[in-house]
Amino acid sequence: MSNFHVTESGKTLVTLIPGDGVGPEVVDSTIRIIEATGAPIEWEERHAGERVFLEGQASGVRQDTIDSIRKTRVVMKGPLGTPIGYGEKSANVTLRKLFETYGNIRPAREYPGVKTPYSGRGIDLVVVRENVEDLYAGIEYMLTPGVAQGLKLISRKGTEKIVRLAFELARAEGRESVVAMSKANIMKMTEGTLKSVFEEVSLEYDDIESWHVIVDNAAHQLVKLPEQYSVLVTTNMNGDILSDLSSALIGGLGFAPSANIGNEVFIAEAVHGSAPKYTGKDVINPTAMILSGVMMLRHLDMFEEAALIENAVITTLEEGKVMTRDVVGDERQGGTTGYTNEIIKNLGKKPTDWKIREYKPIKLPQLGAAPDFVKVKTRQVCGVDIFIESASDKISIGESMERICEGRDLYLKMVDSRGTMLYPPNDVMTDTVDAWRARFMLRDDAAELNDAQLIDLLQAVAAEHMWAHVEKLQRFDGADGFTKAQGED
Ligand code: NAP
Repeated sequence: MSNFHVTESGKTLVTLIPGDGVGPEVVDSTIRIIEATGAPIEWEERHAGERVFLEGQASGVRQDTIDSIRKTRVVMKGPLGTPIGYGEKSANVTLRKLFETYGNIRPAREYPGVKTPYSGRGIDLVVVRENVEDLYAGIEYMLTPGVAQGLKLISRKGTEKIVRLAFELARAEGRESVVAMSKANIMKMTEGTLKSVFEEVSLEYDDIESWHVIVDNAAHQLVKLPEQYSVLVTTNMNGDILSDLSSALIGGLGFAPSANIGNEVFIAEAVHGSAPKYTGKDVINPTAMILSGVMMLRHLDMFEEAALIENAVITTLEEGKVMTRDVVGDERQGGTTGYTNEIIKNLGKKPTDWKIREYKPIKLPQLGAAPDFVKVKTRQVCGVDIFIESASDKISIGESMERICEGRDLYLKMVDSRGTMLYPPNDVMTDTVDAWRARFMLRDDAAELNDAQLIDLLQAVAAEHMWAHVEKLQRFDGADGFTKAQGED
């Protein structure tokens, strides 16, 4: 691929971050195996994580690491730890966001010799998780001293990228189905974006079967009948949970590889952390990191080397002569080094009863750089939500807002607390907290709320209440760009 950095010796340069705890051990095992295949790769070692936090870098990532990744665009990374008392933000999240690796790909496949309650059922699935949006944008506020709020941001553009990535991955791996998992039934706008974009994009992939599952049922189905799934695509937080669940089905963190993939940068990393209690003991299972390395080789178009390693890993597990402690529960079974040596010995062999897939390059979605991805013909500001902090009761708050509306172009549509309408008075039995929302709409439904009207209203509210934030109510092409409260008509 043209945008990789090729050194004078004709090798592809890869940024190598050994990481913390057991990181250097699993990374070393992976490098030894990759080098034994003769893959034309040169490593540029850089650092992130614990030692960088201790140096005083709040992001946990050094500038020369960032520079190296800008140049190589490919990273093999061991787990990064966060020393206690440091790291407002995780170094992993910093890396994912800095390089817009919007897709997190986590395969979960049954392996021979790794006994689980699901052994023999042929689990072979991939979770494609959105990696930069959703609640993990990390935008949170204390609305009042006792009420916290987090923004769940989902863009049409980000969603289309992840959905297309899932379908392209299915094609590249010869998989027959892609299933979207969302909570669109409750969060109609945020999670609903995933469902609607998925249904639209799936029409372009009529060679692949596709359907949607509500995420709580998805968790249930994954435990009950995981073999029914092949590619799953989901939003960031759901993906975080479902991918860990999927790893547990096939033998746990020792066997959970992953790749963070964007249109510019690729980061291979095991799912597990730095497992500090095993540092330097030569007992950790390096398979997750090795299989992450295999994903990286495929990204680099080194399909033969990738297949050599995957076959050697499965052969080693199938033979079961040398295994790690987490699989056999016995420290004497060979350890990290012995297991790595065995895999190297098995390069060139194919497992007897297990097959690996035929892989092709993934065609990454190209969506164009324009930030205003969705264009509309009409837009109208038809009202405003004002959030206030008040220890008062629902009737007093509602009546005060009604009085504020007198003589103004807006009327009070409702007052709610935590999304449940409590005014106009109704018989809802709910506990209340001190964060409230008052919804004001223009009396003339077709008119446009201007800033002067909005500021005038806000000043009037501020004279009686402590306001916390304001949200414009907009209609795009005639459709409400806001949801109703529970109980609002
Ligand atoms: P962890 O390092 O993943 O370890 C938790 C447990 O999982 C281990 O004690 C071990 O279980 C098992 N385990 C992990 N990796 C294994 C492997 N390769 N082979 C076999 N078993 C394995 O999680 P943690 O203890 O919560 O986190 C430790 C540090 O890592 C923290 O600083 C955390 O922030 C960081 N972390 C980094 C990443 C990343 O860089 N991507 C991800 C997660 C956590 P047993 O005790 O049962 O043997």
